[in-house]
Amino acid sequence: MIEVNNLKKSFGDFEALKGVSFKVPKGKVFSLLGSNGAGKTTIIKIITGLLKPTMGDVYIDGDLYDGNSVIKNRFGYMPEHPHLYDRLTGREFLEMNAHLRGMDDSKVDENIHRFGNELGIYDVLDSEMGAYSKGMKQKILFINAVIHDPPNLILDEPTSGLDPRYTRYIKNKIRDFAIEGKAVLMSTHITSVAAEISDQIAVINGGKIIAKGPPQELMDNTKKSSLEEVFIEVVKDG
Ligand code: ATP
Repeated sequence: MIEVNNLKKSFGDFEALKGVSFKVPKGKVFSLLGSNGAGKTTIIKIITGLLKPTMGDVYIDGDLYDGNSVIKNRFGYMPEHPHLYDRLTGREFLEMNAHLRGMDDSKVDENIHRFGNELGIYDVLDSEMGAYSKGMKQKILFINAVIHDPPNLILDEPTSGLDPRYTRYIKNKIRDFAIEGKAVLMSTHITSVAAEISDQIAVINGGKIIAKGPPQELMDNTKKSSLEEVFIEVVKDG
């Protein structure tokens, strides 16, 4: 379970987050949907410990998270922008992180083999990542987030840069992970992705949640037939 209470974040005089609270229970997919600059990545960076909030708390499985490495192992994180080491191979990068998380060699090999094949990058895993395309880097980041089978997943724009086939794969995997009992928090600005796989959606605008609920409920409440129309309507009213 992932929970945030009253998160606020200022950068100088600019208030990027103005008090954001939500809970992602086990077995559910919760999407942060927002326009560019709405505050999604700031929320995610605070949850993962990369940014300190000005105010507010983060709980992982009920425990206050303050960067503690035991709690850190309970989630997998896929960042929005790949910052990968160009001179490492995909396999070296995945193995290094998996070992830091205490995984044993045979499980690491098994999972790299499985996810590498499912994502169609197994054959390039021994090439340096500097030569990878954007989509290949996204796939490496996805494998890195899920390789240790964490109970919580935090995925920032997980389908960004992927072609329709692998976008479908990631969407299916996210649903499967929820069925297995994981709590999945993701951000996206693609309304169709959010509508298809989310149990709950929080629309973020100007650093606040301006609408929250299951996709169908959001459509019913606003009398709109698609999440895209809901989004345009609620963002207009701010
Ligand atoms: P996108 O969909 O474009 O990635 P987002 O919803 O993830 O957007 P954030 O990256 O969280 O948005 O940014 C929220 C706001 O905070 C933006 O106005 C951004 O310019 C600002 N911001 C984020 N990081 C910093 C920083 N380090 N210093 C100053 N302002 C920042």
